[in-house]
Amino acid sequence: MVKIVCPNCAADLDVPNAPIHTCEYCGTAIQVSQMVGPEGKNITGEKVTEEAKNTYVFKEHFIIRSQYNGSQAQNLMEDWIVKIPGAPQDFESTATITERKLKFYPIWVGEYKSSSQYAGLDNWPSFSKPAFDRPGWYEYVSYYKKEERGTVHREYQIPLLALHKTKIPKYLRDYNITTTGKEYFDIQHVKELGGDIIDSVFSLNEAKQTMYQGVIQRQNSEIYKEVTQITSRNDNIEERGVYYIHFPVYEFKFTYGKKQYEAFIDGSNGRIIHIDVPISTRFRVITLSVGGAHAAAGTGLLISGLSVPSIAFFGIAAGIGILATGLVFILLNFRRGAREKQT
Ligand SMILES: [Zn+2]
Repeated sequence: MVKIVCPNCAADLDVPNAPIHTCEYCGTAIQVSQMVGPEGKNITGEKVTEEAKNTYVFKEHFIIRSQYNGSQAQNLMEDWIVKIPGAPQDFESTATITERKLKFYPIWVGEYKSSSQYAGLDNWPSFSKPAFDRPGWYEYVSYYKKEERGTVHREYQIPLLALHKTKIPKYLRDYNITTTGKEYFDIQHVKELGGDIIDSVFSLNEAKQTMYQGVIQRQNSEIYKEVTQITSRNDNIEERGVYYIHFPVYEFKFTYGKKQYEAFIDGSNGRIIHIDVPISTRFRVITLSVGGAHAAAGTGLLISGLSVPSIAFFGIAAGIGILATGLVFILLNFRRGAREKQT
């Protein structure tokens, strides 16, 4: 931890020695690494000049508001669970919510306009030896390298979840966050909902470098659609804006029948990011017995179909069908979880 004074509201802060920290009093995104510096000296007391403030504070700090408070998010989860086949209908009264947290996760978003001039080689076909019996056909096709030039113009919006991969809950890693509704960061909103703010583990510069690489990679794959080998290129990448955005995720932990489950809900739109779905005992008993009976009957038919030639076709076809139905019932018991489709 390091002691700093918030460059905006002058509050004394004791913060982790991480690149960026959101002041819990005024919501300013403080570039701690700029204030503390490599020699680890703390900035205290003295009034910060306007110039220093510009380097200490990152102004493009936004929030995606949560449209739901904690109990509303919990209702969403409970309503969703009872609609899933096999989930306990008595969930509300028999499950115990052990944790309900609203976390504001950090994401960097960079907007870029880029044009890449390239020269490269592409494979062109060369035809030889006209086929004597089919006009317009050739017996041999070979390929040779031919130089091609062009320019790829693209605009990109690159998102970068601002945490180390291992620190991001698994279900969030490939979740598309909608950042179009961003507003300037508002600490009051976070406080009203009792949310926790999580800050970036990357400094502004690190984030910019990674996103820049993202642009280069995307341009690469565009160029490789045209040529198989790049011989020279000239990239012109214009940074249109870089934003630091906090977005809301409700995280639940609950127990049902002695087992632990978890759920993640996007607070900005109520979408279910992931729910571990408990399966009710009643459902388990029915599907396992019905599934087992089908599987046994199907297997029996299949065996007799294979061994008694006169009923072979019926036995095998029906056997497989009934066996498959049985397996579907049984497999319903092994689902790990559910999520809402993203469009
Ligand atoms: Zn402050």
